[in-house]
Amino acid sequence: MSFEIVTVPCLSDNYAYLIHKDGKTALIDAPEAAPIAKAAADRGWTIDEIWITHHHGDHIDGVASLRGNAVVRGAAADTHRLPALDHAHNDGETFEFAGSEVQVMDVSGHTIGHVAYYVPDANAAFTADSLMALGCGRVFEGTFEQMWASLSKIAALPGDTMICSGHEYTEANGRFAVTIEPDNPALQDRIAKVKEARAKGEATVPSQLSEELATNPFLRAGLAEVKNLLNIADADNSAVFAEIRRRKDSF
Ligand code: ZN
Ligand code: FE
Repeated sequence: MSFEIVTVPCLSDNYAYLIHKDGKTALIDAPEAAPIAKAAADRGWTIDEIWITHHHGDHIDGVASLRGNAVVRGAAADTHRLPALDHAHNDGETFEFAGSEVQVMDVSGHTIGHVAYYVPDANAAFTADSLMALGCGRVFEGTFEQMWASLSKIAALPGDTMICSGHEYTEANGRFAVTIEPDNPALQDRIAKVKEARAKGEATVPSQLSEELATNPFLRAGLAEVKNLLNIADADNSAVFAEIRRRKDSF
């Protein structure tokens, strides 16, 4: 049996995900209960596990009413501000779900204690507000160095990994990305596809990691061509990332 992944739109621009295999279902983040409960019920699935990425309300507010008998997982570093956890995980820990391994990756930066869940057998990483489609989360609690290190860890996963991120920000992210790399043809192509998808009301997530590496300005901070475009050819990678993130914050 292979994994099935369902993208569930929630609130105005959030995404939750259901991952299902062999009669087992896990929910990644719970922005609100109703659409998630419906997506599971429509498929006859029961939520066996809830994997929380970080403490923001738009990722946890639905946990209380959805948890039932589900096993709830999250970061050990964040137990004081997450719903009660059945399993509190540290960076690099693994657990088993439906006979497959899940790797917990600390991807702090947006918050301290933000984790991603990587499921090699599903070719999927649930990254929420760390790496996003054509963007990344705002650096609220960590440092730019930390966020760059977190994004670099995700960037090192296999290129065909599906990046299941937390928000539909892709079109706006594209408008910013072209200010960094106006002549990147892969970026132009992607923006056109994103526009088309959004015009039809379709989600632009998950995206493929290889696509992010080719187009996402935040993942491209280490490239000489990007440093040259920003006139900071000698800056180290995390300083270039910081410059791009600062520009986005005031875009
Ligand atoms: Zn957040
Ligand atoms: Fe969020």
